[in-house]
Amino acid sequence: MTRAKQVVAREKPVVAIDGPVGAGKSTVARGLARELGFSYLNTGAMYRAVAVAAREAGVGADTPDLERRLAPILAGIRIAFDGERIILDGRDISALVTTPEIGDLASRLSAIGIVRDRMRELQRAAGAHGGVVMEGRDIGTAVFPDAEFKFYLDAEVSVRAHRRYEELAAKGVAIGYDEVLAQLKERDARDTGRALAPLKRADDAIVVDSTALDIFSVIGELKRHILKTINAGKGLKRS
Ligand code: C5P
Repeated sequence: MTRAKQVVAREKPVVAIDGPVGAGKSTVARGLARELGFSYLNTGAMYRAVAVAAREAGVGADTPDLERRLAPILAGIRIAFDGERIILDGRDISALVTTPEIGDLASRLSAIGIVRDRMRELQRAAGAHGGVVMEGRDIGTAVFPDAEFKFYLDAEVSVRAHRRYEELAAKGVAIGYDEVLAQLKERDARDTGRALAPLKRADDAIVVDSTALDIFSVIGELKRHILKTINAGKGLKRS
């Protein structure tokens, strides 16, 4: 199916939310999806699932002949979501994906072309009919460049590190704030500096800086913008 045909087939909009670690993407995307009655797709969790599958196959970022080792893993991978749970090949890996080690490996593997190609394919299939809020790094730029709504969420690095630290602490991950901040800066640099689909704002994305904003008021703002646009008859692009 060509991209143009995909747009015509879409009955409901795609909402793309991109941004760096700790900008509040997951909370906003999940809350917004609930408010709109849309489904929610956390594409970062998909890259993390790839990292879990690779690690379990004994493959790391420095493994020789990496692409050849990753190819069969990617070809056979089955990633599903059950509410908040992430299921890899029928197994609940929710507890595994949140660790900083898996986040780091996901970030390293996500720079590889065949990994991005496969994830983009699965993400486009998941959003083909619209009615989805999809969050990640390249949704508005590479996965759904024709998304009806694009937002780029950002916040000051120290605020993002604090949010991430609290999120990890709530999950029982033992890590200090300084280490979280250092890892976050490293991951930001890798995600924005990579050659393939680097993290960047799509030209037509609305930028929301949540540094001084309560995440829940961000959800309200985005929802108002989307409903106003849809009610004005501008929600779906038809070609
Ligand atoms: O969002 P999260 O921190 O869980 O994502 C883990 C890693 O997956 C990111 O650091 C990034 O390198 C990668 N990723 C990506 N493209 C996306 C989503 C995540 O490259 N759309």
